[in-house]
Amino acid sequence: MMTREQYIQSLKKLNLDVYLLGEKVQNPTEHSVIRPSLNSVAMTYELAGQPEYAELMTAKSGLTGETINRFTHLHQSAEDLVKKVKMQRLLGQKTAACFQRCVGMDAANAVFSTTYECDEVHSTSYHENFKKYWTDIQRRDLTVDGAMTDPKGDRGLSPANQADPDLYLRVVERRKDGVVVRGAKAHQTGIVNSHEIIVMPTVAMKAGEEDFAIAFAIESDAKGILMIYGRQSCDTRKLEEGADIDLGNKHFGGHEALVIFDDVFVPNDRIFLNGEVDFAGMLVERFASYHRQSYGGCKVGVGDVLIGAAALAAEYNGAAKASHVKDKLIEMTHLNETLYACGIACSCEGCATKSGNYYVDALLANVCKQNVTRFPYEITRLAEDIAGGLMVTMPGQQDWNNDKLRPYIEKYLKGAVGIPTEHRMRVLRLVENLTLGTAAVGYRTESMHGAGSPQAQRIMISRQSNLDHKKKMAKDIAGIKGSE
Ligand code: SF4
Repeated sequence: MMTREQYIQSLKKLNLDVYLLGEKVQNPTEHSVIRPSLNSVAMTYELAGQPEYAELMTAKSGLTGETINRFTHLHQSAEDLVKKVKMQRLLGQKTAACFQRCVGMDAANAVFSTTYECDEVHSTSYHENFKKYWTDIQRRDLTVDGAMTDPKGDRGLSPANQADPDLYLRVVERRKDGVVVRGAKAHQTGIVNSHEIIVMPTVAMKAGEEDFAIAFAIESDAKGILMIYGRQSCDTRKLEEGADIDLGNKHFGGHEALVIFDDVFVPNDRIFLNGEVDFAGMLVERFASYHRQSYGGCKVGVGDVLIGAAALAAEYNGAAKASHVKDKLIEMTHLNETLYACGIACSCEGCATKSGNYYVDALLANVCKQNVTRFPYEITRLAEDIAGGLMVTMPGQQDWNNDKLRPYIEKYLKGAVGIPTEHRMRVLRLVENLTLGTAAVGYRTESMHGAGSPQAQRIMISRQSNLDHKKKMAKDIAGIKGSE
């Protein structure tokens, strides 16, 4: 396994084509806006090297028998699925941000089982391709991005009927040695901190859409790949000289980017689906369900930090003993632990796929994510309520650094006796960061739309709810007999 430092050095060797605020980024690993997100991924390497976290952060590879970072693991049991969620909660607690590396883990587990079943039906050899590819990823301990979401253009039109066919990533040329693809993937979490990308279709496909039914792996710095870094609320605070208090969370963050695939060549041995439209839907559903499970871990860990910050803010305001504040903290905890319960439940109920790796209970995983589209909003509302309006009206760090202004700020923003004003400012900035600032991208809007928007889960919930069985039970209890 790589150490944190080896990971950072390995990223420096990549020749990424990244743009941020309209400018080409020459050195992404040192850029002030990008670096906190790199630190979050680096934590997945750092904790894996610490003995107290070995149980959660590492696993025995089902491919090689070697000890690997759990972020590259193909789950071998329901216990592995549970450990995955616990690991994600831990990382959320350590970074209070999106640590990005889960998308590759979830993509790998979905591709592993889907390629096996596709090969059975179509006599293809995608599963062997993938096993070889992923064995190398595990051995080198690389970070892999999972790329699913196409721009999708007119949502009322299918991939093949778009005015511009590039709005869904597609094969534009088939060669003996591989394919050439063109298109884009939106909202790509952690792409600038990744060595590799696994690309998957974004929706189920039908006959006539073979060119869009494509899954493959590619190096993140391959020729033709261009990344446009997504803006986040308050992101330019990171560019201010000496930025510290105003950042709320100075060291960690997450990121997304729009990734363009401008006629990128993919060799045959890196292709995992190529025109088998009947398996595109399975790949989408499995990846989505794994990532919906993931949210029952990562968002809970970030929620833990936010609850802690709200409790501190109450103490620093001198309001910790107020019964309504205590009740709000209880409600925040109840909501957060409900999310965790869903993440654990869909893992415990997981089963082996035909290929041997374990898959979550898809109904419970979708219920988990559906709750994540709601509860973090209520948790942030309560955190803002407890923090008070000062969170968005207080002076900034440059005022704090001004010798004339600082004594006034010290005096008039003082809260509870014995608590330094600076501590109060720091915790309020952390609440701001998580509810309105750069981390709110990960904690709020990502909770809504990441791993699929709410309606996507409702469709999956409806498909799996087995209403006929429930109606039969109702009839039995009600004594309704005979045909209707
Ligand atoms: Fe991992 Fe959560 Fe970020 Fe997805 S949103 S990559 S599960 S931390």
